Amino acid sequence: MYRIGIDLGGTKIEGVVLDADGQEVVRKRIPTEREHGYQHILRRLKSMHDELAAAVKGPTTFGIGTPGAISPRTGLLKNSNTVCMNGQPVKADLEKMLGRKIEIQNDANCFAMAEALLGAGQGKKLVFGVIMGTGCGGGIVYKGEVFTGAQAIAGEWGHMCIDPHGPLCYCGQKGCIETFISGGGLEKRYVEKYGVKRPLKEVEAAYFAGEPQAVEFMQWFFDRFGRAVANLIDILDPDIVVIGGGVSNFKAVYIEGVAAVRKYVFTDELQTPIVKHQLGDSAGVLGAALVGI
Ligand SMILES: [Zn+2]
Repeated sequence: MYRIGIDLGGTKIEGVVLDADGQEVVRKRIPTEREHGYQHILRRLKSMHDELAAAVKGPTTFGIGTPGAISPRTGLLKNSNTVCMNGQPVKADLEKMLGRKIEIQNDANCFAMAEALLGAGQGKKLVFGVIMGTGCGGGIVYKGEVFTGAQAIAGEWGHMCIDPHGPLCYCGQKGCIETFISGGGLEKRYVEKYGVKRPLKEVEAAYFAGEPQAVEFMQWFFDRFGRAVANLIDILDPDIVVIGGGVSNFKAVYIEGVAAVRKYVFTDELQTPIVKHQLGDSAGVLGAALVGI
């Protein structure tokens, strides 16, 4: 059985076919062209699927990974950054177009699935994957399967509040984890604190060079990271936490950040590995293939 996976993003649609051993046999990439609207995106997804299916001989499974989630209550896509797709019955429409059953999963869940089965979490029973990029998403994989929850929000730790007086989040609440420790959140907080925009890479380099302002900012970040991840471990106690997204490139996260987790977690000795992803940008599309039906 071959596995077709498509990662639907705001700017590109990436597709892959995996063989039975999880090895990649085909990969393709086309622009999303979301400015042409919902029906156009559906047609692009169909043509990508058809091309991938034609590239291999034999039966296939099919999964799509995308930001947002299909509401189990309404069957409509919600929380997508490709806003023309929100409120649309994407799954039902595509199933009709393609004449087959498909699975659609949140991109963070796909990331967690790929890292659990093919990346840093291989061999672990309970994997929590977090993406600290523009926003802050998360996914739970238990025994090789995504755990989505009753309302399809399991793993959405980015919108847990760690400060009720904190900054306003796009979700309408204040002080969500995302507003502090996502790449986008960190950039905003830096501007707020110091009045200048500064690339995070540069802030980290200045931190290692001992610049007082950067040290202060990074220590503030480690503290928030520590609280956020400690809360998560207190509830889920996963076998591993795998980090993706731009912030995962901070080397200090795995030293000082983890030290802060150790400080706040409800155990005398933190044993949970907190590690960087292994699959890079490919995790989304590989995960989409792995969740397919
Ligand atoms: Zn929020």
